[in-house]
Amino acid sequence: MKRFVQGDSRTQSFLLPEALDDYVTDTNPVRVVDVFVDELDLQKLGFEGVEPALTGRPSYHPEVMLKIYIYGYLNRIQSSRRLEREAQRNVELMWLTGRLAPDFKTIARFRKDNGKAIRSVCRQFVVLCQRLDLFAEAIVAIDGSKFKAVNHRDRNFTSAKLERRMRDIESSIARYLEAMDTADRQEPTIAKARTVRLQDKIAALKEQMRSLKEIEVQLNAAPDKQISLTDPDARSMKTRGTGVVGYNVQTAVDTKHHLIVAHAVTNDGIDRDQLASMAKLARTEMGVDKLTAVADRGYYKSEEILACHEAGITVFVPKTVTSSATAHGRFGKEDFIYDAKTNEYRCPAGERLIWRFSTVERGLKLSKYWSSNCQQCSLKGDCTPGPQRRVARWEHEAVLDEMQARLDHAPEMMRIRRQTVEHPFGTIKAWMGATHFLTRTIGRVSTEMSLHVLAYNMKRVIKLLGSEAVMKAMRA
Ligand code: SF4
Repeated sequence: MKRFVQGDSRTQSFLLPEALDDYVTDTNPVRVVDVFVDELDLQKLGFEGVEPALTGRPSYHPEVMLKIYIYGYLNRIQSSRRLEREAQRNVELMWLTGRLAPDFKTIARFRKDNGKAIRSVCRQFVVLCQRLDLFAEAIVAIDGSKFKAVNHRDRNFTSAKLERRMRDIESSIARYLEAMDTADRQEPTIAKARTVRLQDKIAALKEQMRSLKEIEVQLNAAPDKQISLTDPDARSMKTRGTGVVGYNVQTAVDTKHHLIVAHAVTNDGIDRDQLASMAKLARTEMGVDKLTAVADRGYYKSEEILACHEAGITVFVPKTVTSSATAHGRFGKEDFIYDAKTNEYRCPAGERLIWRFSTVERGLKLSKYWSSNCQQCSLKGDCTPGPQRRVARWEHEAVLDEMQARLDHAPEMMRIRRQTVEHPFGTIKAWMGATHFLTRTIGRVSTEMSLHVLAYNMKRVIKLLGSEAVMKAMRA
C-alpha cells in the first residue's frame, strides 16, 4: 500500500473537537437553514404545536421538524425513514437539531399535518429574495412540467384504457377456451393437467373482468371520466414520451436569477388555462406593479391573454398555428391586414373584406368579414376552396395583435424563456430521482413541491450571494 494516501487506524484514539459546532463550518448551508427557520414566526404561519400541550408526553417543537425537512430537501433526502436515519448519524443534522432524532412517523406526520404552513414558508423565502432586490427586472418565464405521482399506470383508468383492457381479457379467455378444446384431444392424463391449468387462468381472468366492471361503474360516476386507484387526484397526462400518471406543476421563474417566484400543482394535463393565474400569482409574490411574462405556445389562449392585459401584465406567447388553410398551403389569417379605422381587412389580392355580421362561438364574440369579389379572383386557388374567403375577428383581437407585434420586435424573448424555465425543472426532477412525488393527493403533493421549490431557491441564493450574506439578510 506504499505510494497511496493512507487512512488512520480504526483503533487509534483521537482528540476530536468537543463541540458539534466545530464540525460545521461558518459557511455551511445548514447554518442558513438554521437562521432562516429561527427568524420565522411559526405561530403566525399556522404551524401546529408551537405552544406545548399542558399534559402528555413532550412533543418536538415544529422548528426542529421544519429544520429537518428543509435540510433533507436541500440534500436530496426526502423520505421520512431516511431522514430518521440521517438524524441519528449525520453530524450536520445533529448540529441542526441539537441531536434530536424523531422517528419517521413523527417526521411524516409533521409534513402531513402542516401542509399549508409549510407552503407559506416557501413563500417567506420568496419575500426574502424580494427584500434582497433579486427580482429587479420583473420578468418571469412561465412553464409547466409533468411530475409522476405515486400511482402506477395500470392503476389509472380512462374509458379508452378500460375498454382496451376488457377487450384484451376477452380475447385471452377466448384463446384459453380454444386451448382447452385442443387439450381435450390429448391423452387423458395430459388433457386433465392442461385443462386444470387453463381453467385456473380463465377463472383469474374472469375475476379481473369483474373488478374492471366495478371500476367502470366508478369511472362513469367520475366528473372527468378518469380514476386513479392509488392517488385519487393523479391524472393521466400526455408527455413527449409515453405519458405519465401524475401532476402538472406550473412555475413562474424570474429570468435574471432563475429563482422560482411562484408555483402551483394542478392535475389539469394542459397548460392553456394557467397563464393568467400564474402571472398574477407571480406578480403578487414578487411584490411588483408591472410584470412581463413569457410562455411557450402551449399557453396561447385568447381569454387568458386578455385577462393578463386587463391586469396590466405584459405577456409574450407565440401563436399556435391551428388554421386548416395554412395546413393546406393556402393563405393564413396573417396574410390579411386589418384596418382598425375602417374596420375592414385587406386581402393578398388587394380586395377589401368588409364586416358582415357578428356572432358568438364557444363563448367568444366574433365578427365575420368577406369580399364580394372572390369568385373573379385569380388567387382564389391559394385562398379558399369555398365560394368566398371569410375571416373571423374576435372582439378583443387588438390585444392579440399587439402581443404579436411585441413578439416580432423581441424574438429573443423565446430564447430567454427556454434558458430560464427549463433549468429549475430539470434540477428538481434530478433531485427527486426516478420516483417523483412520495405522497398522495394534491394537497400533500403541493406541500412536497413547496419544499422542493424552497430548497431550490435557497441553494440558488446561497450560490448567488454566499451563505454569510444570506444569513445577514435573514437576520436584518
Ligand atoms: S379569394 Fe377573395 S379573399 Fe382571397 S385573395 Fe381573392 S379576393 Fe381576396
